[in-house]
Amino acid sequence: MTSTGIPVNPSSLTWYMNDIGLSPDSLAKKAGISVSHLDKILHGNNDPGVSFRQLNNIASKLLTTTASLLIPPPRNPSLPEHVDFRRNKNEPLSYESNKQLKQFLKARDNYLSLNNHEDSSSALLRQFHHRELSQRAAETRALLFGNKIKLSLTELSDAVERYGILIFRVHGVPTSDFRGYSAYFDVAPIIVINNKDSENGRKFTLLHELAHLMNHTSGLCSISTNTEPMCNQFAALVLMPESSVMGCKEDNVDAWILKISDKLGVSEHAAAIRLNDLGYASRSDVAKAEQRSKDAWARRQKQQKTSDRPVPQWRQTLSHLGRRYTSTVLDALQSGRIDELDASYMLDTRVPSLEKLQTHLGYDEGGY
Ligand SMILES: [Zn+2]
Repeated sequence: MTSTGIPVNPSSLTWYMNDIGLSPDSLAKKAGISVSHLDKILHGNNDPGVSFRQLNNIASKLLTTTASLLIPPPRNPSLPEHVDFRRNKNEPLSYESNKQLKQFLKARDNYLSLNNHEDSSSALLRQFHHRELSQRAAETRALLFGNKIKLSLTELSDAVERYGILIFRVHGVPTSDFRGYSAYFDVAPIIVINNKDSENGRKFTLLHELAHLMNHTSGLCSISTNTEPMCNQFAALVLMPESSVMGCKEDNVDAWILKISDKLGVSEHAAAIRLNDLGYASRSDVAKAEQRSKDAWARRQKQQKTSDRPVPQWRQTLSHLGRRYTSTVLDALQSGRIDELDASYMLDTRVPSLEKLQTHLGYDEGGY
């Protein structure tokens, strides 16, 4: 075998492909080389070898550095272990989801390097036992909602982020891939929600993931087979306390469901499940409500498609990366710790968008 190219480590290449969920066919296509050429590299055949430009292409599609493909692979998967995906199937995550989740973990690293005040998520993320579920849901509601009966998704996200939790949103990924993801860290744990879901669905997912974060270290998640229903119940109790549900009472169940949905900002489906738990709605009421929620969301998406106006880039950034992370980067920019190029890189946005973000988030004019 003649050695003519850069000595790529085949096990590393395989590792990064598995880690991001790319098959040889799709990697070859994305990186602009032939499948047979990639196959040779994967078998350690260095003839014809790979040029630096090709290697660079491959590395960028795998979201890694060229150097990492020359050395042995890492020991652990890049996504942290304590994770939850609210998802419908057990297939591997799509490339697009993997890619965005990795970008969020990178953003979290940036956040840690820029954030110089101690975050404390402990008040919100205290562990609890299953039997304390209702009590902790009520406490959580008090911490996040104050006196408000319902919160918009933005308000809820802001309230959760105030406790040092970073909330990110994936875009362009179907909800069948995943609805929510969470990874626990002592500092800056993260929650990711899927933007393709309805607003009410996303609120529910956010609280579901919050329950996971609360319980990660207790072992409750791993020893209990009831973790998923428990997290769902937690989300339902936070959004729909019994007193508020009863406050919406109507004689007709469908009207009651509709009123809860409207007053408490939940889907009709979630409202019906809650009424079913409390013994006021039947399974068929729940099934009907589920269908109505699906129809409503389908109509909404259609409307959005027809009135599609391009979303300005700064708005996309904010929606993607959340307020807490975005403001941390902008704070660092304003205090001169990083420059515009760093900030635009960290926020994955063009320099002109930075000023728009600053204006929107209430920074002083011309602040940097
Ligand atoms: Zn879950």
